Amino acid sequence: MARRKKIYEGKAKILYEGPEPGTIVQYFKDDATAFNAEKRDVIEGKGVLNNRLSEYFMSGLNDIGVPTHFIKRINMREQLVRSVEIIPLEVVVRNTAAGSISKRLGIAEGTALPRPIVEFYYKDDALGDPMVSEEHIIAFGWASQQDMDDMVALALRVNDFLSGIMMGVGIKLVDFKIEIGRIWEGDFMRLVVADEISPDCCRLWDAKTGQKLDKDVFRRDLGNLADAYTEVARRLGVLPENNVPRGKPTLIN
Ligand code: C5P
Repeated sequence: MARRKKIYEGKAKILYEGPEPGTIVQYFKDDATAFNAEKRDVIEGKGVLNNRLSEYFMSGLNDIGVPTHFIKRINMREQLVRSVEIIPLEVVVRNTAAGSISKRLGIAEGTALPRPIVEFYYKDDALGDPMVSEEHIIAFGWASQQDMDDMVALALRVNDFLSGIMMGVGIKLVDFKIEIGRIWEGDFMRLVVADEISPDCCRLWDAKTGQKLDKDVFRRDLGNLADAYTEVARRLGVLPENNVPRGKPTLIN
């Protein structure tokens, strides 16, 4: 088989040229990194779990009319996505204080925020992804005022969708990060959710016990990361072994 052309290799994923123009194959690695890759490890099975979980969230978003880059899952570690022009921002939504907002503003972890807070960080590893304001984003031309409004609206819709799904399986969505890309259709441009949505980029706490089921397990050495992600996948019913094809409906009277 001809080797595929690698387009980009990041910390957790590799992008290959897709089979059709405008498509990309996204491969999920087992590598885990934190603190701008100062801490790193290989967690067996993480890539498979994140591929499944991202498929689940992205296809759910597509189904409710929140556009994403996701087309279909190809195999255990790969999915086909639309090629997008990534906006160089990390869009974070917070429902509960944790992580950097707790540190920066001295708010105890676990404090409910008065409303979801949307933050933007400039994607630049060398600078450590600094937080930026709307003023910076518009002045430096990373996005327009219209894009800003659309990005906030998209992020809040993703927040409502994910919070609901998670609460349904006893998990509190504390915060998450998404990336947003542009897709051009002729002269018309629209923004779509891109990259991945997985426990690598969310904070997920068990609603009753507060147990962490996300990448903080790795960042803070709290146990086995794959076990935490498996628990999320199990509750959502997206573990590979749960995907037993349903039989035909049976007429019962
Ligand atoms: O570290 P901080 O509290 O700002 O992270 C907020 C949320 O964004 C967390 O869910 C974290 O996992 C996610 N995040 C991410 N990638 C980054 C920074 C934060 O997925 N580079």
